[in-house]
Amino acid sequence: MLRSADITMYRAKSAGGNRFELADPEADARAITRHGLTTALPTALERGEFFIEYQPLVHLDDGSVHGAEALVRWCHPQHGVLGPDRFIPLAEDTGLIVPLGRWVLQEAVRQARFWQARHADGGPLRINVNLSPTQLHHPRLVADTVDVLERSGLEPGALCLEVTESALIGADEDLLKPLRQLAEMGVDIALDDFGTGYSNLANLRRLPVSVLKLDRSFTRGMQQHPVDPVDLKIVEGIVSLAHSLELAVTVEGVETGAQARQLRDLGCDTAQGWYYARPGAPDRIHSLLLADAV
Ligand code: C2E
Ligand code: MG
Ligand code: MG
Repeated sequence: MLRSADITMYRAKSAGGNRFELADPEADARAITRHGLTTALPTALERGEFFIEYQPLVHLDDGSVHGAEALVRWCHPQHGVLGPDRFIPLAEDTGLIVPLGRWVLQEAVRQARFWQARHADGGPLRINVNLSPTQLHHPRLVADTVDVLERSGLEPGALCLEVTESALIGADEDLLKPLRQLAEMGVDIALDDFGTGYSNLANLRRLPVSVLKLDRSFTRGMQQHPVDPVDLKIVEGIVSLAHSLELAVTVEGVETGAQARQLRDLGCDTAQGWYYARPGAPDRIHSLLLADAV
């Protein structure tokens, strides 16, 4: 009972304090799991419990593979495979995201280099890696990234770092400087989950981004029949604005062929989603590339 009271008190505090919360066994269980996961994170990295799945990014005009996004997973000894939503926020809170993010970058860049070596004639294969807000603030972001690229021999232009729109809201020049430096080296910066934050369109021109990733919430509307014409207008408007700012547009969460055709007609450049492939083992991208070449 004391433990439950304690957890509930912390829940009230983290909800802003100066309020009451009711004890709830399910919330207790969640808090205990969260605590357990948080303390297990550092050893999980040492023990090699993380792995990466890759999801292809596809050119909408001809369906060819443009690159892949690296998505981290945790193979937990008790809980099985955990998605990033379960542990990235915990890694953010504890700062473990910095070494974890560095590992993901290293591993994904090495993988991209391997694909390139195997497909010398298959055109450039690009790799997208997610960056969380804490990584953005880390003083070694640029140096670490340069180091990883140099060691692997991957050219900077084959790397795209994805930063969420919300991480850049209100960003001042100091925060943007490392991203600007990376962009000047040729690394692409993508604005991830665009449309879930404030989507301040005027802000876009200030950011060193070259790719806009439209959030799944836009494409979800296109699975309905008939498609809401206002949804179409909004996507069309964003795409045309992005293109006039020389940004490429990627759409996330494409689940059906009808969506893919619609988004292609609206002028989107690349797409990602279950319609093409779910995130999977690196050799799956390999076989997609082979299928492409035929
Ligand atoms: P994200 O970067 O926006 O990644 C896209 C998410 O959408 C992935 O979820 C992917 O599996 C999912 N998805 C892809 N296609 C479809 C589709 O057609 N339908 C639906 N319903 N979902 C689709 P996932 O793998 O669970 O990743 C969630 C988020 O975790 C990512 O969102 C990203 O923000 C974060 N994340 C993943 N890996 C890393 C990492 O290495 N570092 C950091 N900092 N964050 C990461
Ligand atoms: Mg992403
Ligand atoms: Mg996204």
